[in-house]
Amino acid sequence: MNDVLGNIRVVLVGTLYHGNVGSACRAMANMGVKELVLAGPRLCDDAGEAARMAVHATDILTARREVASLAEAVSDCAFVVGTTARGGLYRQHVKTPREVAPELLRLASGGKVALVFGREDKGLSNDEIGLCTHLVRIPVHPDYTSLNLSQAVLLCCYELYSAMGVYEPPVEKSPPALAARKHKLADMWRAMLLQIGFMKADKADHMMQGVQRIFSRGVYSDDDVSILMGVARQADWAARHGGGVRPKGSTRSGGGHAAH
Ligand code: SAH
Repeated sequence: MNDVLGNIRVVLVGTLYHGNVGSACRAMANMGVKELVLAGPRLCDDAGEAARMAVHATDILTARREVASLAEAVSDCAFVVGTTARGGLYRQHVKTPREVAPELLRLASGGKVALVFGREDKGLSNDEIGLCTHLVRIPVHPDYTSLNLSQAVLLCCYELYSAMGVYEPPVEKSPPALAARKHKLADMWRAMLLQIGFMKADKADHMMQGVQRIFSRGVYSDDDVSILMGVARQADWAARHGGGVRPKGSTRSGGGHAAH
């Protein structure tokens, strides 16, 4: 995976603010992109802001290269992806980052691909757009189409990382509850709700339909069932003993379910 993302180079053209450079580093690190080149930077504010905004991505900041122009920054790249907030002449063949991401990953598996971002105040010039083999616009609300520079970096890198398909969502450790356990849970709750006086015996069937509906919507894992069984045991015990906490391991008095 790193081979492909390692071939993605972020190029910031004519950047004004150190904070944006630092935030861009952080965004890149979040998405596994490591190489940063500043082309003709015009940095005009407190340099410390870059490290402050990069936080744990200062390695990218430190390793950045600075060159005079975009042409120099992309001279060894076969593919150059320009990003633009603006439409207009020569900028109408834009695609979304999501559309181009799979193609860019394919291209990056064979060589360097540059992802180019323009100046905070005036974006990329038409000459610079002319150096690009692809153009990307992040879909945004038409009332305000220009994103913060580092947020544009984040969204583009995010789409590349997503398209890698390597992210694995965490899986729940507890297995799904089996029908028999859920059935037993409902029995325990029925007994407990009667014991605490929540419902009367002649209404129990009806009331339990509502409880069952709650359980069937939200109780999925075996751990869920264990917790709700524990609630039933304690409530049942407290109702029989006039309150208090059920000693660990004690069984339910009155000949019901054994505690587990
Ligand atoms: N005022 C500038 C906007 C600069 S924003 C202009 O009108 O062009 C700084 C950079 O962030 C842009 O050059 C571009 O690289 C990136 N960017 C901002 N919004 C974007 C969007 N909606 N889609 C793609 N890139 C965007």
